[in-house]
Amino acid sequence: MNELLADVARRATAYLESVPGRRVAPAPENVSRLELLGGPVPEGPSDPADVIRLLDEVGSPATVTSTGGRYFGFVIGGALPATLAANWLAGTWDQNAGYTVTSPVAAALEEIALGWLREIIGLPAQCGAGFVTGATTANFACLAAARSALLRRAGWNVEESGLFGAPVLTVVVGGEVHVSALKALAMLGLGRARVTKVPADDQGRMRADALPPLDERTIVCIQAGNVNTGAFDRAGEICERARRAEAWVHVDGAFGLWAAAAPGRRHLFEPFLAADSWAVDCHKWLNVPYDSGLALVRDPSHLQQAMALSASAYLPSTFIREPANYTPEASRRARAVEIWAALRSLGRSGLAEMVERSCELAARFADGLSQAGFQVLNDVVLNQVLVSFGDAEETRRVIAEVQRDGTCWCGGTEWQGHTAMRISVSCYQTTEEDIDRSLAAVVRIARGQTG
Ligand SMILES: *Cc1c(COP(=O)(O)O)cnc(C)c1O
Repeated sequence: MNELLADVARRATAYLESVPGRRVAPAPENVSRLELLGGPVPEGPSDPADVIRLLDEVGSPATVTSTGGRYFGFVIGGALPATLAANWLAGTWDQNAGYTVTSPVAAALEEIALGWLREIIGLPAQCGAGFVTGATTANFACLAAARSALLRRAGWNVEESGLFGAPVLTVVVGGEVHVSALKALAMLGLGRARVTKVPADDQGRMRADALPPLDERTIVCIQAGNVNTGAFDRAGEICERARRAEAWVHVDGAFGLWAAAAPGRRHLFEPFLAADSWAVDCHKWLNVPYDSGLALVRDPSHLQQAMALSASAYLPSTFIREPANYTPEASRRARAVEIWAALRSLGRSGLAEMVERSCELAARFADGLSQAGFQVLNDVVLNQVLVSFGDAEETRRVIAEVQRDGTCWCGGTEWQGHTAMRISVSCYQTTEEDIDRSLAAVVRIARGQTG
């Protein structure tokens, strides 16, 4: 075992050292070689050292270098040193984090990390959380809590009686709602298509003036951080309307919630603190390894009602926070370990600096593109940039060539009738030099010059 773990540490170190010089998307021939991992079913045991050597020699070259400083696709983020190392240690522990009795350390780290986050973000002191796989599951868990709370108030126990014959709930979403929230509604029996869609403005924000009448059986889903523009819905006005109507406001804050951690961006998130629940990713902007997200709910009893393993497992009088009573999963890995390690290693100021720096680097990329004569389509308020290189065909050509070139990686999107390239700066590793080098490659490709 000693030799095996020393070997994997050497291999991991070599991988990390290769990151700055690697192409971001793997070369096609390395992706083709992945078939070497297959073949017939292994009929008998093999040496673990050989297994790891094969995995590294064939697997590592076929990775996307999203952990490095020049990956700008989707909203991804890397893994801070303390979080990667904590992940290794937690893997060694192999804890079942579902229950206090199976892992006192995992249960304690959840409470500690949650306490720190409540303070850093400014969430309500009694706010509860489920430590889940990501924002999709967090949206699911939060909306399950919303469904439970609104129906219980209408005299219906949805966990016991299901949805057939239940009082009708209305769900309001913005025109730019993230597909994961719709998927969560689909899984909850609330329906992807039976939503009221409120039109969005030119930045993708739900138009508060177009909000339909709300009532105590309405769930309003708003966004902190549009996945294309980074824009924030007008939460102040929406939450105020919802509060008066006793509607439930759920926030998809997959990456935008982290704006609250940086003093210069905090004003963007502050109005969202009046909501009832918040979904956030930790594997994106907090830069912990995949997978990790949080379902945060103002009144944790609603989350507990929705997620308890059985009706008898839900005992509001119990003083022990049993982790499995807050998540869709029962047995699961100890995700709080890396969240704790991120917060312990960064501290309040380190987190603020990481978030602020991503935003400043996104603005640097956007300025460079504008100065080179290309059209930036959004107000760069956070870490997201949308750029067009002319018509749809030309923009698609640039995106494809940027990805092939390998200096950096940016994805494409459709934005309000425009085909656009999307840039997300979410990794702690990204430096000004990474931005300048990536900008030069994008501009060279867009101008049709060869490298
Ligand atoms: C990424 C993202 C999600 C989905 O998160 P997963 O971690 O992929 O489950 C939901 N909403 C927004 C706004 C996102 O950016």
